[in-house]
Amino acid sequence: MNFSSKLLEQAVDEFGRLPGIGRKTALRLVLHLLKQSDMEVSRFTQSLSNLKENIKYCSTCFNISDEAICEICQSLKRDKSTICVVEDTRDVMAIENTNQYQGVYHVLGGLISPMDGIGPADLKIEGLIDRLRKGEINEVILALSATMEGDTTIFYLYRKLKEFNVQVSTIARGIAFGGELEYVDEITLGRSIATRVPYERNVS
Ligand SMILES: [Zn+2]
Repeated sequence: MNFSSKLLEQAVDEFGRLPGIGRKTALRLVLHLLKQSDMEVSRFTQSLSNLKENIKYCSTCFNISDEAICEICQSLKRDKSTICVVEDTRDVMAIENTNQYQGVYHVLGGLISPMDGIGPADLKIEGLIDRLRKGEINEVILALSATMEGDTTIFYLYRKLKEFNVQVSTIARGIAFGGELEYVDEITLGRSIATRVPYERNVS
């Protein structure tokens, strides 16, 4: 791509670094922004810098939040004895959209992936263990994607959780996952949470 302007090229480079954005799309977005008014562009850039500066991660469940403790963890309506373990905040959003789940969450921030150099220490696993040590937890639902990384993480967590007196369950994994929970439709995801099964039954 030959650019008539270095500034244009730099902006396209930055947009092109975003996941799923190719050079052509990046150029289209940058040209679109150029057509906007100064106020609109500054609102856009402000919201990004605000996000990065002020966003917090819930100190209990590590979900993205505006407060030190997220709304879900704060809510008196939620069942604190059931923790649903997910990969990232998109999964929390997907499960919340089903309106089928009343427990709380724990966001790992990724999955164990030796290929990508991501080990258990890179995830919020200690935070989960701490919650089990401290709180009265009856059930941990492992709602992780049906990929090799998801399976590896589930197996690792299961072994860690075994020492606690909790029911460990997984959501139905026979359903056609798109690989990530966010792509599963709400009804299917809601049903798979409602019909979750103890993990032992899956491994035997
Ligand atoms: Zn929280």
